Amino acid sequence: MCGIVGYVGARPAVPILIDGLRRLEYRGYDSAGLVIAENGSLVVVKRAGTIGVLVGALDGTPYNSTVGIGHTRWATHGAPTDVNAHPHTDCGGHLAVVHNGIIENYLAIKAWLAGLGHKFKSETDTEVLPHLIEHYYDGDLRAAVLRAVKHLGGSYAFLAMTRHEPCRLIAARQDSPLVIGLGKGENFVASDIPALLPYTRDTYLLNDGDLAEVTPDGVQVFDLEDKPQAREIFHVTWEADQAEKGGYDHFMLKEIFEQPKALRDTLRGRLSEEGAQVRLEELAPLDAGCIEGIRRVFITACGTAYHAGVVGKYLLEKLARIPVEVDIASEFRYRNPLITPSDLVIVVSQSGETADTRAALREARAKGARVVAITNVVGSSIAREADLVFYTWAGPEIAVASTKAYVTQLVAFVLLAVWLAGRRGEFAGAEAKDILAALREVPAQAAAVLEQAPAGAGGACRYAAAEHILFIGGGLDYAVAMGGGLKLKGRSGERRGG
Ligand code: GLU
Repeated sequence: MCGIVGYVGARPAVPILIDGLRRLEYRGYDSAGLVIAENGSLVVVKRAGTIGVLVGALDGTPYNSTVGIGHTRWATHGAPTDVNAHPHTDCGGHLAVVHNGIIENYLAIKAWLAGLGHKFKSETDTEVLPHLIEHYYDGDLRAAVLRAVKHLGGSYAFLAMTRHEPCRLIAARQDSPLVIGLGKGENFVASDIPALLPYTRDTYLLNDGDLAEVTPDGVQVFDLEDKPQAREIFHVTWEADQAEKGGYDHFMLKEIFEQPKALRDTLRGRLSEEGAQVRLEELAPLDAGCIEGIRRVFITACGTAYHAGVVGKYLLEKLARIPVEVDIASEFRYRNPLITPSDLVIVVSQSGETADTRAALREARAKGARVVAITNVVGSSIAREADLVFYTWAGPEIAVASTKAYVTQLVAFVLLAVWLAGRRGEFAGAEAKDILAALREVPAQAAAVLEQAPAGAGGACRYAAAEHILFIGGGLDYAVAMGGGLKLKGRSGERRGG
């Protein structure tokens, strides 16, 4: 998750982009950047750190450009560094893209484009976008984007611009949000409504598969067959602070309702096409000998992540048949645990900064064990210090009480257990297939439960739905135990642990 903004009109673009990014900072905040078309060239300024750091890098330069795109990043692929910050450009720096989402098949696209001579600078999935568009560009940005998106698997909301057509932004959306703000002689694009509210309340909410052409004089929406699409204007009546919470009263409610997307994102690219296998490229360094030799697993974490670990023990023991101990990280570090180099230690932390969990990680590594981190924050301290990292890709969690981070940690454990069990020869392919088929259903089931909250319902109804969705968290292991779909109806009154 991250924030993207775009502006095309008659006013200086930089202050509008910065203002928009500040209003979207709650969506992601490890790096920020922008690109403008200035005197026929693209000027890119991007930095790891907050928007304040980006403003410092701009150094008050009085840019005249009236068109630009900006990004505040929540990294999924590649650490938060200046180079990995968005925008990303093509080989010649003529074309730039900001992106929110995950391009699942980016490695294959990258290999193909590199073979054609494209030079990549970053570790991100996003960088394939400007190169892919460059590959197809012959003077018409919309046509090139249309051809480029046909290659993409995964989720995206992105904005592209080129110095060759400086009054034109192209926006595309699939499974990540994107909103157009309609002005007079100017138009705006943003991930979310708060960025638009100082300028306009008239918006187009883009749908999956939409591609929009945005110029100062108008906005046209097309489908992937390049057919123009009519869009009704959505007039926003919320105030800014409500809009930041997606219209919910609290961030916690917003995050509860984000669970279907978070669950989908955690599964993204990790199930094989035919659904019988788990693909965890991030764990590839654990070779067959090493996996065979795992004697014991220690799971250690704090708070909610500890509870995910308790479910993880159940899954790993049941499926992978490895004995598991679960410790609260603050205890683990002080009890001088009997860890050997043939033990695998799994640390779980949403933020990747939990001090006791980090200390436990160090303790485990000092004793020679391999450490796998399950975390939500790319480039966090725990991610940097662990041997291997499983990112949950749940997007920023702002509420203190964990919701979407917790359920995605459970998904991580299901995937990990099935993956390890497969490699240790613990079960037949058919068994894995049943479990994974059940797991694949969970995001839609979560959405189905949340849809039961009536539109416009107040807090009580939404909290009732939240109860159900928290139950789904506990029910993931039920999916595994049953090897079939979750049976929400008839079980909704029951609360299980976790
Ligand atoms: N996957 C992209 C990255 O890691 C975009 C992440 C985001 O949505 O902020 O750079």
